[in-house]
Amino acid sequence: MKNERGILFILSGPSGVGKGTICKALRAQKLNIQYSVSATTRNPREGETHGVEYFFKTKEEFQKMIDQNELLEWAEYVGNYYGTPIEYVNQTLDEGRDVLLEIEVQGALQVKKTFPEGVFIFLTPPSLDELRSRIVGRGTETEDLINNRMAVAKEEIEMMKHYDYSVVNDEVESACDRIKSIITAEHCKVSHV
Ligand code: 5GP
Repeated sequence: MKNERGILFILSGPSGVGKGTICKALRAQKLNIQYSVSATTRNPREGETHGVEYFFKTKEEFQKMIDQNELLEWAEYVGNYYGTPIEYVNQTLDEGRDVLLEIEVQGALQVKKTFPEGVFIFLTPPSLDELRSRIVGRGTETEDLINNRMAVAKEEIEMMKHYDYSVVNDEVESACDRIKSIITAEHCKVSHV
């Protein structure tokens, strides 16, 4: 017996906690899961490619996606818009394949309303000090932006109670192992067998 629809996994947590790093590490392990590419209005960072990390959009293009209901969720985050194109998610789940979204907290809470059956995983930093040094260490943000991101992060951590799982990102390999265990456990649920 096999569940026909794929499972939607939502990996979320404060910016700088390492969602991107964890996703990259999971991708390298060639798991049987698909990764959604988000749309954003922020400028590409060095080394980022349109269609790989993000679909880079103007504000007008992004607004059009909202108006035409092309986004499963979207959020304004530190002055930029981020959103998940819905078509890819629905199509992939319909094909019986799992999808993983890597999104910030406001967006995850929106997904919870439309996909309550999704599996919500909250990635937490070992501590707030550690989170700050990770954001600083990335070297891509100004002091103002860092403070802004830290303020948002503190509010976001409060939202953990709405999630199904919490994974501490103390070390990439262990965090990935925990996420893989969650994926395995979800597939073993009687409702998914
Ligand atoms: P960054 O600018 O560092 O790439 O991302 C900033 C934040 O936006 C991160 O927390 C990232 O997970 C989140 N993000 C990326 N894509 C999406 C999306 O499609 N929707 C939402 N709500 N957040 C996203």
